[in-house]
Amino acid sequence: MNSNLRIAIQKSGRLSEDSLGLIKECGIQFYSGSGKLKSESSNFPAELLFLRDDDIPGYVADGVADVGIVGENVLVEKNKPVTLSYRLGFSKCRLSVAIERSKEYHGIGDLQGLSIATSYPRLLSGYLEKHGLRADIHEISGSVEIAPSIGLADAVCDIVSSGSTLMSNGLKEVEVIFRSEAVLIANPGLDDARQNILDKLLFRIKSVQAARNNKYILLNAPNDAIPAITGILPGMKSPTVVPLAESGWSSVHSVINENDFWNIIDNLREAGAQGILVVPIEKMIL
Ligand code: ATP
Ligand code: ZN
Repeated sequence: MNSNLRIAIQKSGRLSEDSLGLIKECGIQFYSGSGKLKSESSNFPAELLFLRDDDIPGYVADGVADVGIVGENVLVEKNKPVTLSYRLGFSKCRLSVAIERSKEYHGIGDLQGLSIATSYPRLLSGYLEKHGLRADIHEISGSVEIAPSIGLADAVCDIVSSGSTLMSNGLKEVEVIFRSEAVLIANPGLDDARQNILDKLLFRIKSVQAARNNKYILLNAPNDAIPAITGILPGMKSPTVVPLAESGWSSVHSVINENDFWNIIDNLREAGAQGILVVPIEKMIL
């Protein structure tokens, strides 16, 4: 048996595109012909297994796959003995309880005694228990949101991102019970060779994410404004300052975080920065 790292990803669904995209951004090439269940990389010791997301935690726990990408909601619901290696930051969503829009809602106590349809019985019952409530949980595997309108249940507990699906089914969100994002999970007993490949993969994922969250910034400023400007720009170590051909002027280069981007730009302009250029970073090696 070769020691390729076997990476399970969702075959087709909401996780598929971002999972494949992340792997590609890590420079790992695959031939992704349609309908294939398995594909070996041509330039990294890994192979992809395309599976239903619900089966991924079980396959990783059993060692059929070494690592996998799933929603944290599925990871917690399946409760398999796997390690959460890394939070991937995409497919953010929440698991919420929703009731018919026409019904009044005063607070969590109103859930007592209701019948609730869900694909997440473990997460829901854990939440209800924590709040000292009892409800009648109906486990169904799909199209949960239609349960109240066909008389199957009083409420639903389902994945929500924008809320538009709930809205179009006449439902309103009343309690958020879990917040989820895509996560990389791993079999806890990987051998050294595979652990080593996983470490390489994690290193690449972190570099890709850091690059996404940061921008490279270049600007010009009169020399007397440089102390104020370098004070605003942290940079990876400290900003680079190089003289311009025009005397009394310098160019400053640095890296800024996407989150405080506009604040930093405003402060730089106030401090005298001109000709500000902001460019994306392809990879950022930390
Ligand atoms: P499969 O056929 O593989 O079983 P599925 O229908 O169970 O797929 P999807 O709807 O593709 O699952 O969702 C996969 C995961 O993506 C969910 O478990 C959740 O973590 C996340 N997700 C679901 N809906 C959304 C959404 N609207 N926005 C963002 N992420 C979502
Ligand atoms: Zn599924």
